[in-house]
Amino acid sequence: MSLLVVGTVAFDAIETPFGKTDKIIGGAATYAGLAASYFTKNINLVSVVGDDFPQETIDMMNSRGINTQGLQIKQGEKTFFWSGKYHNDMNTRDTLTTDLNVLADFHPVVPESYKNCEFLMLGNLMPRIQMAVIDQLPNRPKLIVMDTMNFWMDIAMEDLLKTIAKVDVLTINDAEARQLSGEYSLVKAAQKILELGPKYLVIKKGEHGALLFNKENVFFAPALPLEDVFDPTGAGDSFAGGFIGFLAQTKDISFENMKRGIIFGSAMASFCVEKFGTESLIDLSQDEVDNRVQEFVDLVQFDISLV
Ligand code: AMP
Repeated sequence: MSLLVVGTVAFDAIETPFGKTDKIIGGAATYAGLAASYFTKNINLVSVVGDDFPQETIDMMNSRGINTQGLQIKQGEKTFFWSGKYHNDMNTRDTLTTDLNVLADFHPVVPESYKNCEFLMLGNLMPRIQMAVIDQLPNRPKLIVMDTMNFWMDIAMEDLLKTIAKVDVLTINDAEARQLSGEYSLVKAAQKILELGPKYLVIKKGEHGALLFNKENVFFAPALPLEDVFDPTGAGDSFAGGFIGFLAQTKDISFENMKRGIIFGSAMASFCVEKFGTESLIDLSQDEVDNRVQEFVDLVQFDISLV
């Protein structure tokens, strides 16, 4: 059961109330691939970097079961660079820099050996590139999950709407759901967004958890109350990676199983925010993942008998 992950592989510079980093490894596909690697080992990456990107990071991805044959390395060019600064609430941030670099002229090539993937994670990236990947697959995957952000709503809305129409699950945050739908109420926003094509919508609310909608149902999962949150960067991508990794592992795309997927995704996001960058996703043990998921179960379990 293979999982194809597309998205940025990047350098990030991050400032939070707890510290500041120079260029560290980031990128939507990096976070999503690493998070998914705790559930399934058959992960294929499509992305692009410049020749400034460290080989040891590629080796680390390989060692976690991420195949990088579809990672283009452009000689003489620079890797995508993003920098952001978080506000004191750690839930909102300002983007300071988005240097597309190698992304500006990226034409994704899906290797032959990736083409029969059953699960496709379209991590945050230009919508036209996300679409170009769908177009190269001879058979439609069993499940396509797409993540995006306000940046693309601002500059590529037309391409974004075309791509959204092709996917099964869209994951965005609450502010983006409001921007995309023009509705303040998240319930109304979800109804409007589901009219655009996806069968499911996940609205991420940072430290306030996540909502899963389809046309008939809604499910809510809290975020784990954590003692220390150092860096929320990549939480959304880690969430998406854990979610689709779990679905690929269990091969069950029912609403009931997606509810479990939301918990596994939330668990991976909770690890992500505890350290800067991708550091916390590199070397978790199975016990750590299991215990974290159990903490979610304990957090929301209660008995009520109504007379
Ligand atoms: P998240 O915190 O889940 O929104 O993801 C942050 C990651 O997304 C960072 O590691 C960035 O490198 C990457 N990123 C930031 N802006 C963009 C963008 N416009 N397109 C794709 N990836 C981006």
